Amino acid sequence: MSEEKKALNFIEHIVEEDLSKGFPKKQLRFRFPPEPNGYLHIGHASSICLNFGLGLRYDSPVNLRFDDTNPAKEEKEYVDAIKRDVEWLGYVWENECYASDYFQQLYDWAIKLIRNGKAYVDSQTSEEMATQKGTPTEPGVNSPFRERSVEENLRLFQEMKDGKFPEGSHVLRAKIDMASANMLMRDPIMYRVLHRPHHRTNTDWCIYPMYDWTHGESDYIEQVSHSLCTLEFAPHRELYDWFLDQVIEDNKIRPKQREFARRNLSHTVVSKRKLLQLVENNVVSGWDDPRMPTISGLRRRGYTAESIRNFADTIGIAKRENLVDVSLLEFHVREHLNKIAPRVMAVLDPVKVVITNYSEENTEWLKAENNPEDESAGYREVPFSRELYIEQDDFKEEANRKFFRLKLGGEVRLKNGYIIKAESCTKDSEGKVTEIQCTYDPKSKSGSGTEESLRKVKGTLHWVSVPHAIKAEVRLYDRLFTDEAPDAHKDKEFMEFVNPDSLQIITAYVEPSLKDAQIEEHFQFQRLGYFNVDSDSTPEKLVFNRTVPLRDTWARIQEKS
Ligand code: ATP
Ligand code: MG
Repeated sequence: MSEEKKALNFIEHIVEEDLSKGFPKKQLRFRFPPEPNGYLHIGHASSICLNFGLGLRYDSPVNLRFDDTNPAKEEKEYVDAIKRDVEWLGYVWENECYASDYFQQLYDWAIKLIRNGKAYVDSQTSEEMATQKGTPTEPGVNSPFRERSVEENLRLFQEMKDGKFPEGSHVLRAKIDMASANMLMRDPIMYRVLHRPHHRTNTDWCIYPMYDWTHGESDYIEQVSHSLCTLEFAPHRELYDWFLDQVIEDNKIRPKQREFARRNLSHTVVSKRKLLQLVENNVVSGWDDPRMPTISGLRRRGYTAESIRNFADTIGIAKRENLVDVSLLEFHVREHLNKIAPRVMAVLDPVKVVITNYSEENTEWLKAENNPEDESAGYREVPFSRELYIEQDDFKEEANRKFFRLKLGGEVRLKNGYIIKAESCTKDSEGKVTEIQCTYDPKSKSGSGTEESLRKVKGTLHWVSVPHAIKAEVRLYDRLFTDEAPDAHKDKEFMEFVNPDSLQIITAYVEPSLKDAQIEEHFQFQRLGYFNVDSDSTPEKLVFNRTVPLRDTWARIQEKS
């Protein structure tokens, strides 16, 4: 959908209102501000689509800003992954910015606050400070260091910066109001000592600015007009504004913080901290494990950027948190892949069919349509021979009238091929069918134009020719968590809900046209679902992921139980 045609969301209404009050459109500027402490997840996609969507709607610049103020948790690997993911989602940022680029400016402003009597060095322990914080209904207590002289504060802050003090010995605090009804306004910490190298500034700094002090000032430096964040920051808005008041100059844009609700997806967790636990405990193979709700995991699983954007657009943004069912995400990927994924045949759980009246020497190359939804996708040829694989599930010795697949004495059409009839079958000692003997109707070939080719039989099965089939590894995925909201339980840890059966690896047979399938290529395995080529795949050993089955079996299982 083009940006103009969509209904306005409430954030866009705020922007429209500002424009109608005379805010110049060309001064609109947005940013997406991830902290590089993990990979982006599907929740971030909402924020990315919101901010970059605004950029597209108003033809305004959008910065990608790394909020990199905590060297203990941040890494270059994450910066690179975030850039890759935003780019892959199809967005172009104006500037690549880093809060760490503003460390000097932030430091200079901190000095200004000290000089103006708006900040002081507190030399208490964090426990002492915590006891003085008060409660929402009781005011806090002033620190004994609150009335230090400007000179002493300047000297101590300088020494903090010069590395003279160990971690935890001193902090710089804003001097606001220990009795404020907003606990965040009770002299919040602006700087702490951290003797940690930073992935960009290395050992240049051993004091690091806190989020609240950094975020608004970074917005101001970049002249961001609308700074959009999730609801948990609503109480921070007062502080955001207070910090801006300390530095704002005439004729500059004053950034405006507005909040929207976090998006949560069912049967998973969307928090980098929790996703990191899954990685570190080897519950998954990495951040891009196809079961992960990360952008890179979804991509590897076979999700398209378009399907993720459409999903984010459909759920839109909200003022209140809620849980979005993962089947909605699956709906969007099915819808997109239905349009673009070539159809191929693959058998996941094979049983052999022998067509007894078909010559042993013969192979026919049958014409098969690549995508009925897209004529330009053209045709390919699939080999047909005397021995074929079909799915175990598609055969029963005996079955009632509602079973439209193959049964003894019954007929089905083989997709793109002939009508066959099951005559007999062979079983092993456990009663499992190992081979089905069939006959075929030579005149019934699909597309041959004969009366028999038009003959309707109830079922059509997919199949592959035994001598031509390629063995491939197929990875079938299920929900990573058995619970709808694994991290919403007061008495249980989300890790307790990890689904032990979220990955099943099988060997399948695929048609030979897939021989040169490339990593990330999408296919519809007919009657089964959408699959893509995993990054572990090699020309010697193809590996496919099941992106999503054709139908939402999960929803049906849920209904039954
Ligand atoms: P996490 O808890 O996963 O680390 P975060 O909010 O700390 O999330 P940031 O890197 O700070 O992660 O997020 C960058 C931007 O994305 C922020 O503006 C944040 O509000 C937004 N965001 C993060 N998670 C979600 C979510 N689930 N839904 C919508 N927006 C989100
Ligand atoms: Mg965070």
